[in-house]
Amino acid sequence: MLKKDHGLLIVLSGPAGVGKGTVCNALREVDDSIFYSVSATTRAPREGEKDGVNYFFKSEAAFKEMIANNQLLEWAKYVNHYYGTPLQYVNDTVRSGADIILEIEVQGAAKVRERYPEGVFIFLAPPDLSELRKRIEERGTENTELINERMSVAQAEIEMMAQYDYVVENDKIENAVKSIQSIVLAEHCRKERV
Ligand code: 5GP
Repeated sequence: MLKKDHGLLIVLSGPAGVGKGTVCNALREVDDSIFYSVSATTRAPREGEKDGVNYFFKSEAAFKEMIANNQLLEWAKYVNHYYGTPLQYVNDTVRSGADIILEIEVQGAAKVRERYPEGVFIFLAPPDLSELRKRIEERGTENTELINERMSVAQAEIEMMAQYDYVVENDKIENAVKSIQSIVLAEHCRKERV
C-alpha cells in the first residue's frame, strides 16, 4: 500500500512498438526528478546496452529464482523472454518520497494495478488510434482481411486503454513527454495527497 507521503508509482505502458522506451528515455533526459526502474530480463543485451543501466541481464534460472524469492513486483513473458520489475528498488524509492516510473508491457502493468491500485497508470497510444477507432465504428463497410485484423488489434488496444488513468497519444515525442510531466504534476496536486 502506498502512503500519502510516498512518491508516485507511475506505470507507462501501451501496445508493442508504440515508442514507450523512446518516450521514457526522452523524459529521462529532461527530467531528473523522476527515478527509473531498471528491469530484469532474460533477453540478450543489444549493442550498447549495459547491465544495470538498461536492464539487469539474467539467465533464466536466475530470473526464476527472483520470482521464487518474491523479488519482483511483477513479471511477464514477452516474445519468449522474461521481463520483471525488481521490487526492492521501487519500494525504497517511493518510501523515500521520490517518484518512480516503470516502463513495462501491458500484462505486467495489469499486475501492478492489482497490487498497487493507487499507482498512476499511463497508456501510451499510437497516434492513429482515433482514426482506427472510427474505422471500427464503421465495421462492415470496409471488409478486407487486413483491415479486420488491424481493427481487432486496435479494438484490443482500446479495451486495454480503459484500465488506465491517462491516455497519452504519442504523436510527437516531446509532446508525449510534456503530457507525462503534466500528469505527474497534477497527481502531486490531488487533494488526497496534500
Ligand atoms: P525490449 O526487449 O524491447 O527492451 O522490451 C520488450 C518489452 O518489454 C517492452 O514492451 C517493454 O516495455 C517491456 N518491459 C521492459 N521491462 C519490463 C518489465 O520489467 N516488466 C514487464 N512486464 N515488461 C517489461
